[in-house]
Amino acid sequence: MPEVRCRCEYLAPMKMSWSYVNPGKRYRGNGSCRYFEWMDYDVSECVSNMIRGLLKMADKYEKEIDKLQFTIEKKRYKINKKIWESNMKFLYGFGSGVVFAVFVMSIWMRSGLPSVGLLQLK
Ligand SMILES: [Zn+2]
Repeated sequence: MPEVRCRCEYLAPMKMSWSYVNPGKRYRGNGSCRYFEWMDYDVSECVSNMIRGLLKMADKYEKEIDKLQFTIEKKRYKINKKIWESNMKFLYGFGSGVVFAVFVMSIWMRSGLPSVGLLQLK
């Protein structure tokens, strides 16, 4: 097969069309300068039908993947929410623990006698 070059002298590689209208048809093309030329015009009905089937299947799988990704995103959101909630619970517990400890400490510090500090409040 002879080498085909586009207007800007680059080699135009041969590719196969995956479009629904022209499945399996070969062409030479260069995306950077939009060079395009069909190679063969007689793709057998069998091949084009097969490729159309593949395209339909790929489309179906893509939709399935989209659905799965959506589900994963939803799950991830739920998990993040749970983590956030448990972190908040921990912080709340830890925070109230600290507040209580400071409260007890302040009472203990104010009273001269540590052992009877809490009793002296009465
Ligand atoms: Zn070019």
